[in-house]
Amino acid sequence: MRLRFAPSPTGYLHIGNARTAILNYLIKRKTGATLVLRVEDTDMERSSRESEASILADLRWLGIEWDEGPDTGGAHGPYRQSERFDIYREYTEKLIASGSAYPCYCTQDELDAMRREGREGAFEYPGTCRDLTAAERAEREAKGLKPTVRFRVPAGESVTVNDLIKGPVAFSSENIGGDFIIVRSDGVPVYNYIVIIDDALMAITHVIRGEDHLSNTPKQILIARALGLPVPEYAHLALVMGDDRKKLSKRHGITSVDLYRSDGYLPEALVNYIAMLGWAAESGEEIMPLDDIVRHIEIGGLAKSAAVFDFQKLRWMNAHYIRSAGIGAITELFVPHIEKAGYAVAGLDRAWLESVIALTRVYCEVLSDIGRIIGVFLEEVPALDDDAAAFLDDDEARRVIAAAQDAIAASGAGADFAPALIAAIKGSGVKGKKLFLSMRAIFTGRLAGPELDQALPLIGFEKCAKRVEAARARCSA
Ligand code: GLU
Repeated sequence: MRLRFAPSPTGYLHIGNARTAILNYLIKRKTGATLVLRVEDTDMERSSRESEASILADLRWLGIEWDEGPDTGGAHGPYRQSERFDIYREYTEKLIASGSAYPCYCTQDELDAMRREGREGAFEYPGTCRDLTAAERAEREAKGLKPTVRFRVPAGESVTVNDLIKGPVAFSSENIGGDFIIVRSDGVPVYNYIVIIDDALMAITHVIRGEDHLSNTPKQILIARALGLPVPEYAHLALVMGDDRKKLSKRHGITSVDLYRSDGYLPEALVNYIAMLGWAAESGEEIMPLDDIVRHIEIGGLAKSAAVFDFQKLRWMNAHYIRSAGIGAITELFVPHIEKAGYAVAGLDRAWLESVIALTRVYCEVLSDIGRIIGVFLEEVPALDDDAAAFLDDDEARRVIAAAQDAIAASGAGADFAPALIAAIKGSGVKGKKLFLSMRAIFTGRLAGPELDQALPLIGFEKCAKRVEAARARCSA
């Protein structure tokens, strides 16, 4: 079994394409198939090597591995379509020689005029250049007209795609818009034409791709028939939509994998969530590491209907993966986000930092959330947020601050200062929520966060003392 993922390097790796890649990879792992990565870079204006590099980097970050590709090589290369033009040219000559394709000299202006005069609805090329004589062709060549090459769509031919997910989907050659262009006038061949040549030459047995390509498939099959090339099996994945059931786009949320990465999503979470968009476990389980998904997944069991991308659920799943990761590894992943928030990490004691992360990661849905939290442990006196400032502005809170000041003066700066400090502040006589939230506001600058008996030892006595002093100065008025 040979599979392929065929990105067009015209931008970042989009969530929809990442899903196609992930499902190909899961089926590869399931079946032991070979996965080919083919770069479809014939759109010269929009394709770039930078985009190719970023797509490959994002795929690697997701944990997807391929066996053959532009970077890994393989027996069926080259793996960039832009490096295969000689191959396509040979096939074009074959198609023209056998009469399955012909040069078309209609200019863009002429085609536009036909389009205006034609029936309402989809334009169908009327076949103007279909049966030109050799002399008529020569006359047009002599005028310097650069032809496109059109595929001669056979009349009345039926094409059934036996889709492994959707079942049989029948098309008729009458409904595919007439003879279509396979090579542009600048000599660049078009996607629908070369994709089937490459699938055949790369010995692809199963094409797993987005449903948006289903309507292209009959064109591709007709070309394969004309060239006597084998046709792979197809599995078209239902589309991913936003919550308004429209095609997923930037309007709905983050759609580019590199932004998920820089926001602090874990690849395990993204892969888990995206895989589940196309497939659901019978048990209803949602958190499933890749190895478990591989054990259960089947091509035929992939979702037939469109899935709605739930950004909130992905965050929830990411939070789960952040919470359950090994503390050393997850601390390492937090470090760049702490630095991005403006804090120096290099001089910090690693064991201390791991303890801080162990305490705070439960407040992080994405790694970058740490930027809003870590200041509680790293700054000398974190600024009070508005809620905390309002909360400390009354007499009861001022009693807590006074008690805290006395407690600091009375207690030692030993490593285990916290329980005694907290006990002494409780002596203020202020009770319940007012007591606890006042303490939290004094020591952390906010009303929500980790338990103080765990946080204070990590903040350390000196900073605690400074924070009490600052609260006193601010709230004594
Ligand atoms: N290059 C195409 C795309 O990025 C994929 C074509 C295919 O899978 O057949 O949409």
